Order: sequence, then C-alpha cells, then structure tokens
Amino acid sequence: MKCSLCDRRAVYFQRHSNRHLCRRHFIEDFERRVKLAVRKFDMIEKNDRIAIALSGGKDSVTLAYVLHKLYGKRRDLDFVAITVDEGIEGYRPPTVEIARRVTKELGMDHVVVSFKDHFGMTLDEMVQRGDKKPCTYCGVFRKHLLNKTARELGATKLATGHNLDDVTQTILLNFLNADIERLARLVPQRVQRGLIMRVKPLREVYEKEVVVYGLLHNLPLTFDECPYSYFPVRATVRDFLYEFENKYPGRKYSVLRSFEKLIPCLKEMYPQIELQSCERCGEPTPRGICQACKLLEELKASREAASNEV
Ligand SMILES: [Zn+2]
Ligand SMILES: [Zn+2]
Repeated sequence: MKCSLCDRRAVYFQRHSNRHLCRRHFIEDFERRVKLAVRKFDMIEKNDRIAIALSGGKDSVTLAYVLHKLYGKRRDLDFVAITVDEGIEGYRPPTVEIARRVTKELGMDHVVVSFKDHFGMTLDEMVQRGDKKPCTYCGVFRKHLLNKTARELGATKLATGHNLDDVTQTILLNFLNADIERLARLVPQRVQRGLIMRVKPLREVYEKEVVVYGLLHNLPLTFDECPYSYFPVRATVRDFLYEFENKYPGRKYSVLRSFEKLIPCLKEMYPQIELQSCERCGEPTPRGICQACKLLEELKASREAASNEV
C-alpha cells in the first residue's frame, strides 16, 4: 500500500483521516498533533523547566522522546524526568531500568524517588497493611511524590503521558458517574501555589499511534500491566469507546471536543479554590491535612495495632 501523501510505502493506516501514511508522514502528523496540543493549552512556555513523569511504560517513554525531539534544542527550556518507584515486586524494577536507559540516551536529567524512602513503606507493604484498594494508595502517594519532587527540582510544569484514549475514557467515565466536579478537574488549570501545573502533550494522539511512533524510533516499549491494576468500570468504558471508534472512526476526537466546548461552563461552575498547605507536610491541599498524610496515618495505626497483637 502506498502513502496517501507521497510515493513511499505506507506503514500505518490512520482510520480517523482515512489515510495511509508512510513512516515520514506518520511521524510528521504525530508530531504536528503534539505541537498543536502543546500550543492550545500553553503547555510549554518560555523559560519553562519541565518535569516529565516517566514511569518507564510505553506512553511516558514516547513522551520523553518526543518532547526532547521537538523542544530539546530550545535553550530557554529545560527537562528533567522523574520516576516514582512505588515498590511493586516484579513489575516496577524493569521499568525503572528502562527509564534510566532512555534518559541516559537522551542526555536528560533523571531522578528516581521511592515510596519506601518517602513514606517508609512500599506499595506492596501498604496493600498488606491497609484496607483500601491498591490503586487508592498508589494514586494518592504517586501524585503527592511527583508534585513534591517536581517542585523541589524547580519545575514549572509536570508532563504526563496520558493519550487520547486515556483522556476520553476519563471524560466519559465522569459523565457516566454524574461526577461533573471531577470532570471539571480535567480542565487545564491556572497556576496555584505549591501545585505544579500538569500538562498532557499526548492528549491528541491515539494510544495505538503512541505505540507505533515509539516502535518507529526503536524505543524500548513495555506493555506489561501493573499487577494491581483493577478498574472494572473504566475497562468497560474503554471497550465501548474502542468498539465505537472502530465503527465510527474519529469519535474519540468528538468526545474530546465536546469536553473542550464545555470548559468555559465548567470553569464557571467549579471555580478553582485557593489551596492551603497541609498542616503535616506542607503539600497543597484544599484544607487541613492532605490525603496522603491521612492515608499514611491510617497505615501507621494499623501497623501499630498489628504489632500490639503479636
Ligand atoms: Zn508519505
Ligand atoms: Zn500532608
């Protein structure tokens, strides 16, 4: 099959545009959409120091590569990758290794921080001790640690590898849960004290395209899923969106555009509140004690209860 734009051999069929693309035109198109997303929401501004949340999975590895390729030459910008080691035996160590390799090859600063060092426990230990779901601990502590580390490194933005599939799943999921407040949290935010602004440069590219882009650049991509990953409702939404997109190509973009049209209303309905500093750790929180400190207290209490029983 020939490329729809030139005479070269096509490597990818882009369903939403009904085009066959050769390697060069696929890469060009992918990078164009990354730049478009970046511009649309001012994800990268003059003199930014951008922290990249680099788990070592396929999305974040591709993100680090493409940001470095598109913006790495700009002298006013600066990149640093942060890998959070949650402490998941068997799963995390290989991806930490990949993150090390990728940043070394890109010549990008890289910092690895662990749950064990910061919270005194690995995720595996938290799951044994506590009664919450693994993803609750993981989500809260990872966000906390990423924000804290990014801020301490002097970062002005925190980029994550969420792609179009991830973002549209979250949008639809919040609709289906009638959780419009949570939907509003997806609105790109203004600067808040202590909170590093999160940006998603891959929000306009399909997950499949992220993989193909990574493979075309020989990036070390892993497809292993976290052993704790358990999101039954999200999985249903993912499968539905997949089938819908398959039948009516481009509909994931419709979901994204619908959300974007709602942004002015969402901003009005849920204005951003002034954040305070957590009374325990100083991290930003709506009020009082932050979620991470609350969970940590619970976990410590259950550890003491367990040691008293012995
Ligand atoms: Zn071509
Ligand atoms: Zn706290």
